[in-house]
Amino acid sequence: MHITYERPTTIGEQIDPAAPAADLDPTGAECAATTYDVGGLEWHCTRRPNHTDDEHRAAFDVHGGGPTGEVGFAWQYEWGGAGHGPSSTDPITTVTVSFPSTAWTNEQLPTAIADEIRSAFWECDHDDVTVTTTATSTPHPVTG
Ligand SMILES: [Zn+2]
Repeated sequence: MHITYERPTTIGEQIDPAAPAADLDPTGAECAATTYDVGGLEWHCTRRPNHTDDEHRAAFDVHGGGPTGEVGFAWQYEWGGAGHGPSSTDPITTVTVSFPSTAWTNEQLPTAIADEIRSAFWECDHDDVTVTTTATSTPHPVTG
């Protein structure tokens, strides 16, 4: 990730003339790509969905710790191309998860595993991540 804008901490509630435009969607829809800054604070992109350049921008909401509607943080992913991730010509890596039927304690476990796997990737790559589950036995629910 490249940080393209970070709001100075010294200007309080003032508007920073160097901040990029918020580029909000009139309907309130958001791109919603997320990242973390160096301090571990999470930001989510508030620009309109499918913005055409590759800079994600997070504007403050009413309780956002800065002037409402002003961009506080902006970033690009290493590969550019907002929300599109690596091209399909990149190598594909497959990870297989296997577990015995005795470890399969509820019907939702495969879904929970798939969700966990997706959460390990950048949100903008989720469309390119395929999680396949194959069952050769049935769950062993915990009873009693
Ligand atoms: Zn974005």
